[in-house]
Amino acid sequence: MSSSSTALVWLRRDLRLADNPALQHALSVAETVIPVYIHAPHEEAPWEPGAASLWWLHHSLGALSNDLQRLGSRLIIRSGSTPECLESLLAETGATQLYWNRLYEPAVIKRDQQIKQQLRDQSIEVQSFNSALLFEPWEITNKAGQPCKVFTPFWKTCCAQGVHRLPLPTPETLPAVDPELTSIPLAALGLLPTLDWDTGLASSWQVGEQGAHEALESFIDGAMHAYKEDRNRPDLAGTSKLSPHLHFGEISPLQVHSACMRAVAEGRYPGEDRHLLHFLSEIGWREFSYHLLYHFPQTPESPLDTRFERFPWPKTDPEQLRAWQKGQTGIPIVDAAMRELWHTGWMHNRVRMVVASLLSKNLQIHWLEGARWFWDTLVDADLANNTQGWQWTAGCGADAAPYFRIFNPVLQGERFDPQGKYVRQWVPEIAGLPDNYLQKPWEAPAEVLAAAKINLGRTYPHPILDLGETRQSALQAFSAIKQPP
Ligand code: FAD
Repeated sequence: MSSSSTALVWLRRDLRLADNPALQHALSVAETVIPVYIHAPHEEAPWEPGAASLWWLHHSLGALSNDLQRLGSRLIIRSGSTPECLESLLAETGATQLYWNRLYEPAVIKRDQQIKQQLRDQSIEVQSFNSALLFEPWEITNKAGQPCKVFTPFWKTCCAQGVHRLPLPTPETLPAVDPELTSIPLAALGLLPTLDWDTGLASSWQVGEQGAHEALESFIDGAMHAYKEDRNRPDLAGTSKLSPHLHFGEISPLQVHSACMRAVAEGRYPGEDRHLLHFLSEIGWREFSYHLLYHFPQTPESPLDTRFERFPWPKTDPEQLRAWQKGQTGIPIVDAAMRELWHTGWMHNRVRMVVASLLSKNLQIHWLEGARWFWDTLVDADLANNTQGWQWTAGCGADAAPYFRIFNPVLQGERFDPQGKYVRQWVPEIAGLPDNYLQKPWEAPAEVLAAAKINLGRTYPHPILDLGETRQSALQAFSAIKQPP
């Protein structure tokens, strides 16, 4: 094999060909470019990808592999220890250059820094690039030059800096990879579940770069026109559903930003600015989550607000936790959300906040229990966003919901699922209830329940908690730790 102009492109969560800076750089400096994926989930411990993530990864690698072949290349898959796999690939191919796009999880940063140092010591040219963020976490600071802990000034600073890059194009062709170079078959990674709980996932998503762009285009032409209001409605398709595509890097935030700007310029988006700006600010929340994870790498396990370290979480009641996980709490909007998650691998943001508030506040179960369940079941499970979402709702994160904000799931259901479409879809056993009792079946008179063929405690659970009482006890418990030490 040729040596001097061979580069490895180590693909991780940048599973796309367009706007891929590491790939573009390799193509600009090397004659032979070898795309490599190394499966090493143990290196991300304690946050190894969960079951739903692995399902997505399987299909995303499959799509990428097909796309690479279409352009004349081939994805080389290896598994085991990343440093060893890379060393072996460098030796087998004679490559002297290694390029990758940066990730920001603490365990991954540590590993990547070690690899960079070790290989540079062996005179390998190693370079990393930004493909996952509009703004690197170290590029934004508050007025005192410190990391930001509040979203609004963070996003204002980002907007003032502006985005001055355009996405890189998709390569037209790619150099061939030596057929002798071995790759393990994708199926051998064992990413797919052995039990068939994934049929709902398969029918809910089009995984891969093309699916990501189709989702973006249909969002820009459709739901974005009413995003600011409809984004709160779990009963409507009011959001982009780009989260797993963004997590796996099948599309970049730069491509999303640029597509929005192009739609405006082309007059395809006659909608009001407030919808577009609100959508971009949600991309901003993703940037903020990465900023926090980078600067406060302890937060996946520990509260950002250190006063919460002394919060005496009561011992978790395993039955209550199980009821919450399985969508059997007896509180319809919560059960609908938890079942949507189990069935599709995704949950609407509004109800993510509702179920997280119920767990961490009403049930006073440690937010980490919820974060871990989400981690295993979400196809978009993302250490930055999940940590930020859970800490925000539990009240211990940056820009957190104040401790006295405890979502009332009945009111949330009545407001954001006004005709009960969402609850009826996911909790069909209570679909026959009239709207005024749908979100609180325990208040329905016996004859109403009988007419809807509901036997509470048998066909649908009694609520596992009293919302009013648990709210009071949570307020008491949380107010104690909000006092200065
Ligand atoms: P859209 O409304 O279309 O937003 C576009 C993109 O902006 C999203 O794809 C996402 O990348 C980003 N975004 C939107 N809202 C947020 C937010 N609140 N915080 C950070 N980024 C945001 N998001 C994840 O991607 N992975 C997670 O593991 C995750 N866990 C969460 C846990 C909790 C308890 C909460 C409250 C929120 C969590 N979120 C998580 C954030 C949010 O719920 C999802 O990003 C959003 O629902 C994805 O749907 P969408 O792509 O249709 O969003």
